[in-house]
Amino acid sequence: MDSETRTARNFVGGAWTDPSRDGADVENPATGETVGRVGFSDETDVGEAVTAAAEAFASWRETPVEERIQPLFRLKSLLEDEQEELAELLVCEHGKTLAEARGEIRRGIENVEVACGAPTAMQAGHLSNAAPEIDETAVRRPVGVFAAVTPFNFPAMIPLWFLPYAVATGNAFVLKPSERDPHTPTRIVELAAEAGFPDGVVNLVHGDADAVNALCEHPEVAGVSFVGSTPVARHVYETAAANGKRVQAQGGAKNHVVVSATADLETAVDGTVGSAFANAGQRCLANPVAVVEDAVYDEFAARLVERVESMVVGDGLDEETEMGPLVSAAHRDSVAGYVETGVEEGAELLVDGRTAETPDEGHFLGPTVFGDAPRDSALVGEEIFGPILALVRVPDFGAAVDVVNDSRYGNAASLFTASGAEAERFRHEAEPGNLGVNVGTAAPMAFFHFGGAKESFFGDLHAQGDDAVRFYTDETVYIERWPDA
Ligand code: NAD
Repeated sequence: MDSETRTARNFVGGAWTDPSRDGADVENPATGETVGRVGFSDETDVGEAVTAAAEAFASWRETPVEERIQPLFRLKSLLEDEQEELAELLVCEHGKTLAEARGEIRRGIENVEVACGAPTAMQAGHLSNAAPEIDETAVRRPVGVFAAVTPFNFPAMIPLWFLPYAVATGNAFVLKPSERDPHTPTRIVELAAEAGFPDGVVNLVHGDADAVNALCEHPEVAGVSFVGSTPVARHVYETAAANGKRVQAQGGAKNHVVVSATADLETAVDGTVGSAFANAGQRCLANPVAVVEDAVYDEFAARLVERVESMVVGDGLDEETEMGPLVSAAHRDSVAGYVETGVEEGAELLVDGRTAETPDEGHFLGPTVFGDAPRDSALVGEEIFGPILALVRVPDFGAAVDVVNDSRYGNAASLFTASGAEAERFRHEAEPGNLGVNVGTAAPMAFFHFGGAKESFFGDLHAQGDDAVRFYTDETVYIERWPDA
C-alpha cells in the first residue's frame, strides 16, 4: 500500500497483485476528499487466490496447532504496536471517531487472543470402553479453504471475527472486505504477512458482488463467513449453500432498548445515546428504537433530548468529536430521507439532525430523535443505519417486549430495569440473539459467540468463541478396537 495516494491491492499466495477490474475511489467521509483507490477482482483473480489457499492448506493442516498459533501471537503484538496508526487510517476512510476506532481495533485483537486458545478449543472428547473393548474419540479437523466477506462499518474488527479462528484451526483463508474502506483490512493483512503465516494461508481479494459470487461458487471454497445487509446475507447464504458450502451469514438489524418504569433513567439515557449514535448509528448492534413505559416516558424523553442536543458532531480525527459523518453522500441522503418519512408518518421530531452544527464538507447528519413513533412506521421497522432514534411509548412492560418481538430482525435488544423479575422475563421472552440488561449495547466478548436470530442471521454456528471453532472444523469420531491389546 502506497502511503501518499493509497491503493489497496490483493494478496495472493504471499505476493501483492493488482485486481484485474477497474474499481472505485475511496473517500474520507469527513471531508469528501479521495484518500485512495481500490480495484475490483474478477473470477480469475478470485480463482488464483482460492488455488493459492488450497495449495497452502495441504501443509498448513499438518502443521501442529501450537505452531499455527505463533503467528497469531505476533499479529496481536503488531496490531497493538500499530493501534494508533491503524485507528487514524480507519477514521480517514470510515469517518468514525478515534475513540471508536481504537475500541474497534481492541475488539478485533480480542478475537486474535481467543483464537490463540485453539490448542484447547480444538479438543473434542474421548471415552475409553465406550462399548465393550471399544474406545471412541472425537477430533476436530480443519476443513479446507474458507472465505470471509465483510461490511464497511467495522473494517478492522469484522475481518478479525474470522481470520484468526479459520487459520488457528488449520484452514486457509481468503478475505473479501468492503470496497468502501479497503485500506484498513489491507493493512491488517500486511501485518498478518509480517507475522509469518506461510504463503497462501492468508489471502486478500478486493472487489464487489462479482468477487463475492465467485467465492460463493468456487468448488474449492469449503465455507463462507459473511457479514452485511440482510438481502446480501440471504443471497450469500443461498448461493454458497447451493454450491455445497457451509455458511454463516450475519445480516442487518433494527434493535431496541426497553426502558422500564423501574429503570435508573440517567443510566438508561447514557446507554441509549451511546448505543443509538456511536459510529453515527452505523452499527448492527445499535439500538435505534427506544421503547419506553408511559410512566417514565416524558422524563426519559426530556433528559435524552438535552443530552443529544449537546453532542459534538465533526471530523473523527478531532478528539472532541462525539459523532462522525456517515460513510458516503448517498448514504447520508438516504438516512436524511428518513427524517422526512418520520415526519410524514406522524412521529414528533424532537431533535432535527439536519439543522445540527456540522462541518460544511463531508457527509454529516446530526443526531436525530423522534418521539411517539407509530409502532408500524418505517422509523420503527426499517434498518436506517444512521443517527436516527425513534421513541415508542408503551403502556407497560409486556407491550414493550411485544414491540421487540414484532421486528423481523433479531440481532440484539437491551433492557434498563431495576427489577430482577422483569430482567428474567426479558431474557426468557425476547427473541433477539444478544440480550443486554442495564447495558446499552449488547456486544458479547470474543470468547462468547456473537448471537443473531430471525432475518439478522442465516446459518446455525455464529462468529466468535466456540461456535467459530466448530464452524471452521469437522468433528470426526474414531471408533477403535484392539483385540490383541
Ligand atoms: P453490504 O451488504 O452492502 O455489503 C457487505 C459485503 O457484501 C461487502 O463486502 C460487499 O462488497 C458485498 N456485497 C454487496 N452487495 C453484494 C451483492 N449484491 N452480492 C454479493 N456481495 C455483495 O453491507 P454494508 O453496507 O457494507 O454493511 C452494513 C450492513 O451490514 C448493515 O445492514 C448492518 O446491519 C450489517 N452488519 C451486520 C452485522 C451483524 O453482526 N449482524 C455486523 C455489521 C454489519
